[in-house]
Amino acid sequence: MTYIPPERLVWNYCPICGQKLVHAHDGEADHPHCAACHRFFYYNPVPATCCFLRREDGALLLVRRGVEPCKGQWSLPGGFLELDESPEEGIHREIREETGFHISDVRLLGVKTRPSPINGAILVIGFVTEHWTGALQTGSDVMEAAFFLPHERPGLVFTVHRELLALYDQYYM
Ligand SMILES: [Zn+2]
Repeated sequence: MTYIPPERLVWNYCPICGQKLVHAHDGEADHPHCAACHRFFYYNPVPATCCFLRREDGALLLVRRGVEPCKGQWSLPGGFLELDESPEEGIHREIREETGFHISDVRLLGVKTRPSPINGAILVIGFVTEHWTGALQTGSDVMEAAFFLPHERPGLVFTVHRELLALYDQYYM
């Protein structure tokens, strides 16, 4: 099946009641507003997490995506935060789902944002750890997971991941 990317995110209609939104002033600026629900709609980055799992020899764990967008391309393991999660809980869950590993002792590496046609923008919180248990077992949204030494690394498909990798190399290489 050919992947067709979704249209750029625009707030046109209220997702709750379906009424056409109008621009209204929220005290700071004009934003899409539903008069029936008394609710403003904002364009905000969507938070996600990723993690650099660092082996003793300096190799990093990367995953080949099993889902669109960018199916078949390499990325850092991670994903979107759920509403009820802390960033640490989110990255623990994503790593468990995608690789079967139970990570611990994660440290914050840095945070980067990029425009995203699907979400408006994405905000990625990057963590690092050298500590995990369990056997490598890829989940359904991942085709393949493997450790790569610095000179073996495949190109990462997401700009925001490449930016975090540059930060990682600056601090850890
Ligand atoms: Zn409404």
